Amino acid sequence: MASDNKEKPGNCIRCGYSYKKGSQYCAECGAPVVNKCLDEGDLLRDPCGCVNGEDAAFCSQCGCATAFNRAGLVTSPYPENKVLQTDEMGEMKWFYHPFFSG
Ligand SMILES: [Zn+2]
Ligand SMILES: [Zn+2]
Repeated sequence: MASDNKEKPGNCIRCGYSYKKGSQYCAECGAPVVNKCLDEGDLLRDPCGCVNGEDAAFCSQCGCATAFNRAGLVTSPYPENKVLQTDEMGEMKWFYHPFFSG
């Protein structure tokens, strides 16, 4: 399995435009051309950053939605289950943030 897939030129999954090597988004339609995991990490955890296959709706490493999923290029009948994959305390802290509790 080649690890440099993301560096290769290719065709946009949405419009077929041939994007340049190293592109992150299609210059023709703005669709993401790399199916990156959208996990952004948090204070205790680095972003996942995993690059998934073109047909992946969710990251194979952490279960977060992929860029193609968010852009509507890949659809899944299943809801995003990031909450189940994330450290519970990491999610909970937002509910107790002073901004929300007044
Ligand atoms: Zn495109
Ligand atoms: Zn991931």
